[in-house]
Amino acid sequence: MARYTGAVCKLCRREGQKLFLKGGRCYTNKCAIERRAYAPGQHGQSRKKTSEYGLQLREKQKARRYYGIQEGQFHKYFLMAERRQGVTGENLLRICESRLDNIVYLVGFASSRAEARQLVTHGHFKVNGRKVDIPSYLVKPGDVVTIKDKSKESDSFKNIIELNGSRPVPQWLDVNREALEAKVVNLPERDQIDAPVEEHLIVEFYSK
Ligand code: SF4
Repeated sequence: MARYTGAVCKLCRREGQKLFLKGGRCYTNKCAIERRAYAPGQHGQSRKKTSEYGLQLREKQKARRYYGIQEGQFHKYFLMAERRQGVTGENLLRICESRLDNIVYLVGFASSRAEARQLVTHGHFKVNGRKVDIPSYLVKPGDVVTIKDKSKESDSFKNIIELNGSRPVPQWLDVNREALEAKVVNLPERDQIDAPVEEHLIVEFYSK
C-alpha cells in the first residue's frame, strides 16, 4: 500500500494554504505556512503565471494531499463519482469524506488524517462491531465506528482523545464521547465539507 513519506509541510507550501496534515502543530505559530508562505525550492518566491491546466492540476493535487490519497485511487474515485447520480465534483468529495480514515480524524479519534490512517491499519477500529483495518473503507449512513475495547484503555489513545475531543465535529456525524463511538447520520452535503478545493477544476482536469 503506497503512501507519501516525504515532508508534509512542503505540500501545504506548494498549495499555498494550510492542509492540516500534521495535527497539533498546524494550529501553532510553528506551522510552516505561518513562517514561509511561499512554495518550496529555489524558485518558490518567484512570480509565475499559471495556465488553466496548471490551475486544474494544482486543485487535483491539493485535494489528494488534503485527504492523503494516491493518484490511482483518486482517479478511481473520480470514475466512481461520474457513475453516481448528481454533481460529479460533489460526489467525488463525498466519496473522499466517507473513507474510514477521514471519519476517524473528523470525530477526533486521531490528530491528523495520516495518524488516522495508521491507527486504522493497526486494527484499532470496528465498523458495526466488526474489525476493519482498511483506511479506504467507505462508510454508509447508519454505520457505527467504535474503538476496540483494548485500544480504548491504552494511554496513547486516551491522550489522542484528550487532545482532539474539543475539535468541532461535522453535523453529519454523531459522536458519543463516553462510549467512544461515532455514527454516520448521513453522507455530507457540499456545504458540510470543509475541503478547501474547487472541485469543478478537478472534474475539468480529468475530463480532458
Ligand atoms: Fe501544513 Fe500543518 Fe505543516 Fe502548517 S504545520 S504547513 S498546516 S502540515
